[in-house]
Amino acid sequence: MKVAVFSAKPYDKTYLSRVLSARSDPESSSFSSNSFSKVKIELVFHDFSLSTDTVALAAGASAVCVFVNDTLSENVLKALHSSGVRAILLRCAGYNNVDLPTAERLGLFVANVPSYSPEAVAEFAVALIQTLNRNTHRAYNRAREGNFNLDGLLGRTLHGKTVGIVGTGKIGVALARIMKGFGCKVLGYDLYPSDAFRECGEYVGSLENELLPVCDFVSLHCPLTESTRYMINDETLGCMKKGAMLVNTSRGGLINTKAVIKALKYHQIGGLALDVYEGEGALFYHDHSGDIIQDDDLMRLMTFPNVIVCGHQAFFTEEALTEIADCTFRNLDDFCRGVPCKNSLVIVREGHLFMKRDALPVR
Ligand code: NAD
Repeated sequence: MKVAVFSAKPYDKTYLSRVLSARSDPESSSFSSNSFSKVKIELVFHDFSLSTDTVALAAGASAVCVFVNDTLSENVLKALHSSGVRAILLRCAGYNNVDLPTAERLGLFVANVPSYSPEAVAEFAVALIQTLNRNTHRAYNRAREGNFNLDGLLGRTLHGKTVGIVGTGKIGVALARIMKGFGCKVLGYDLYPSDAFRECGEYVGSLENELLPVCDFVSLHCPLTESTRYMINDETLGCMKKGAMLVNTSRGGLINTKAVIKALKYHQIGGLALDVYEGEGALFYHDHSGDIIQDDDLMRLMTFPNVIVCGHQAFFTEEALTEIADCTFRNLDDFCRGVPCKNSLVIVREGHLFMKRDALPVR
């Protein structure tokens, strides 16, 4: 079976190939499934992303393996289906880039990797909070120039501060545990409260009235859906405690960029750290250092000393890449053997396909 792997970086090739050969090796005990399907898998790597322009390159494949900035719109899914593709394997947790209703209509198998290392993402959010708060990004540059002046580097002690976590799923809970360890008061907001979060934080019932006005740091950890798009906008930024810092390692579309630029310009918020950006599809995961970047909002953000932008790297650890590859092959294995897949985003029940609870795509 051919699997066309889109947006394949050298590290994807390394980890997918390594895990595939370990799984095919009967002597190997490092990977989870010992009832792996006997179907022989051939990986075909494409270093460009999947889109209407590149979908033809999936010809001959039965499955495609994609990442966060691949486009699986109605047109792309129909083209994939016509060329014989029957399975979409996401190497990520978020699935806002997949038109699930169309996938459902076409009867495509779609599965994600819901949890590869929530700690990896949570730890990166902490790195962003710490960098922004203690200005280590500025100190690093200054020291390299021989400038050891402390003016402008003043931070705040995290101990005793209030941290707000929006979306208390796997990553939100991992962050809550760490921030509790720092001695912070942890508040959470989620449509589906969990006991795991209650062990380290306290829930509030309203984002606008109870979380944003009291938090010194706000970290976003909910998926991008119709209802969360632009949840951080002029109005909600206005509810934030003046000078509070905002961190987004979830999906760029949660924040209205123009609104956050205004909030930074007028000192409504005291800092912003982004691992994700609403226009990232055109830029992230590629080297544009010799280009004139055309995204004026991103360029404006970069001019603020209290803004940090990273290129969607919170997941990027050795452990997470290994688990992503292993889980991707477990999902493919379920598809090949025709057994229920716990990571399927389109569920077959009584002969019909249903989408999972909050799997509404953003168009
Ligand atoms: P999760 O599904 O375990 O948790 C998401 C939580 O958000 C759930 O508890 C859900 O109830 C909640 N939620 C949904 N809608 C909400 C709303 N309107 N308001 C408040 N809460 C809401 O997911 P997770 O594994 O914790 O991942 C969270 C997100 O992180 C993913 O959706 C993905 O977009 C992003 N992510 C980013 C990276 C990265 O490298 N930057 C890596 C992995 C995941």
